[in-house]
Amino acid sequence: MKNEIKRIIISIGMMLSGIIFILGVNNVDTNAALEKGDRQQELVTEKTMKAEKTVETANTIKMASTGKVVKRKGWYTAKSGRKYYYKSDGTPVKNRSYRINGNLYLFSKSGILCTNPGFKTLNGKKYYLKKNGTLAVGYLKIGDDYYYFSKTGVMYRDRWAYARGYKFYFGKDGKRLTDVDEVLGKRSSYYITVNKNTNIVTVYAQDGNKGYTIPVKSFVCSTGDSTPLGTFYTPYRYRWLTLVGPCWGQWCTQIYGNYLFHSVCYNSWNDNNSLDVAEYNKLGTTCSHGCIRLKAGDAKWIYDNCALNTKVTIFSSNEKGPFPKPTVEQLTEGHTWDPTDPDMKYKCKQSGCNHYGKLVPCDMQHLY
Ligand SMILES: [Zn+2]
Repeated sequence: MKNEIKRIIISIGMMLSGIIFILGVNNVDTNAALEKGDRQQELVTEKTMKAEKTVETANTIKMASTGKVVKRKGWYTAKSGRKYYYKSDGTPVKNRSYRINGNLYLFSKSGILCTNPGFKTLNGKKYYLKKNGTLAVGYLKIGDDYYYFSKTGVMYRDRWAYARGYKFYFGKDGKRLTDVDEVLGKRSSYYITVNKNTNIVTVYAQDGNKGYTIPVKSFVCSTGDSTPLGTFYTPYRYRWLTLVGPCWGQWCTQIYGNYLFHSVCYNSWNDNNSLDVAEYNKLGTTCSHGCIRLKAGDAKWIYDNCALNTKVTIFSSNEKGPFPKPTVEQLTEGHTWDPTDPDMKYKCKQSGCNHYGKLVPCDMQHLY
């Protein structure tokens, strides 16, 4: 061991004196010189080049004073303004992301430093270059969407990642999904939270022994001042139920006592073309008699997927949940059915209200 160290010290000493001879004492970078790949190499920094007359090629510099040809090292800005980086062994960084002094940079196939901010594609991998010229790493909001980038800056696509105590899924385009129901598949159990303050219901699935930390989806809801706080276990459910008014709700799941998840009210029993449109348009605000009103499709999701005895926690907080609050498209007076009610899709198609996207004419369908 001692001999080994001695040998290293001697070889470093020889190398340093060599470099000092070439570059002059001011420009010795002892840290770089200590790196393994540097023995046998003659290096030059950008600073040295400026101090001396040189003949430059892409990767080497001929020093006019000594006639020695040395390799570049560190940052180099060409006359074109393009920046390059040479590793301590004199090789240029090309075609990859590369960490320099704690910052991650991206270099093109020909070694040019990428400087225009935005999404970048290199070797089929996607990156995001921030305004400061460094690559995004970890969980990041870009525009309206969240993304996840690995330690080497590669954007996650079609995979899960842990962020902020949750497990999120990032889709084909790298965007975080705000509904992972299809990716997860049906689960045997869920956990539901209701934020009375923000009027957001969030459904969670279990991530092994980490608990219910996978946000599955969020629903916009309407709670009421008398909505009780606490943790409950759903005892019953009803396809239709008579509510205060009287009016009638679909896909009702009891939480506790007279408090239930259910659709917005209808004016007739078992008639899903009698929606109280004005009440529907208030979804997302605190306006119920205490129940938790949902879009019909969302009430149905709970009714269909959450077994009885599902745990529900109702709380009141300013904190934003894992997913943003879904929007509510305001209905016109004549739209007397809930556009999320799967049984009423045909009505939206008939009236051409565009709740199900642009309709494809029948004779065009085979082209898709
Ligand atoms: Zn519609």
